[in-house]
Amino acid sequence: MECIFCKIITGDIPSKLIYDRNEIIAFEDINPQAPTHLLIVPKKHFENAGEIAESNPETLGEMFRVAKELANGLPGYRTIFNTGAEAGQSVFHAHLHLLGGRAFGWPPG
Ligand code: AMP
Repeated sequence: MECIFCKIITGDIPSKLIYDRNEIIAFEDINPQAPTHLLIVPKKHFENAGEIAESNPETLGEMFRVAKELANGLPGYRTIFNTGAEAGQSVFHAHLHLLGGRAFGWPPG
C-alpha cells in the first residue's frame, strides 16, 4: 500500500487527528497555508472528487457537512479539491482542503 493518506487512516503514519466518524476522517495539514488548514478525507480510497461523485455522491455531501462542522466559529472559510497535478493535486487520495483564519484573495494562485 503506497498511499500516504491510506496509511494515515490505518494509523501507520501519525497525524493530528481532528475528526473520525463513520467513513470520514479529518486531520491537520502538515504544511498549513492558513491558521486553520484541515484535510477532510474519505476512509475509502478514491483518486479524486469526481470519482467520489460518480460512485458515492452522499460521501461528498458528508465531507462538506463535516467542513461546515469543523469551520464552526470561523467568519468565513474556503473549501478546495485539487484534481490532477496541473491543478496542484499532490496526494492522489481524494481530500477536501478546509482553510480559514485569514483573508483569501481571488483568483487563487
Ligand atoms: P494536494 O496538493 O491538494 O493533493 O494536497 C495534499 C496536501 O496534503 C498538501 O497540502 C500537503 O501539505 C498535505 N500532506 C502531505 N502529507 C501529509 C501528511 N503526512 N500529513 C498531513 N498532511 C499531509
